[in-house]
Amino acid sequence: MHELSMAQSIMNAVIETSEKNHANKVIEVIIEIGKMTMLNSEQVIFMLEILSEEEENRLTHGANFTVEEIPVEIECLECGFDGKLENADLDPYTPISRCPKCGNFKVNVKNGKDIIVKNIVIDK
Ligand SMILES: [Zn+2]
Repeated sequence: MHELSMAQSIMNAVIETSEKNHANKVIEVIIEIGKMTMLNSEQVIFMLEILSEEEENRLTHGANFTVEEIPVEIECLECGFDGKLENADLDPYTPISRCPKCGNFKVNVKNGKDIIVKNIVIDK
């Protein structure tokens, strides 16, 4: 499942960063998920919560996970449209965006395609 593998790599990044910073405990993790990833934020949080309680992930026991959804922003190379895409403009089966104004696929995605661990609050 897409969400599970994503949650696992988020968790790995969180643990790696926390260990590097000599954390005793991870208190809060804020993750940005671009809408273009088509990930279900609630499912990602749910899986992070399960993973964080696993025996070997001692650092993350009881941690709080927050997801901020980042809208997709594009720039059309054809008509010059520059702005956000609504959910209806996103095709859940292809990770390709088209311009909502002229329908062109020659667009530059400026925002919303990444998953970023934005902030990790730790206790030392
Ligand atoms: Zn256009």
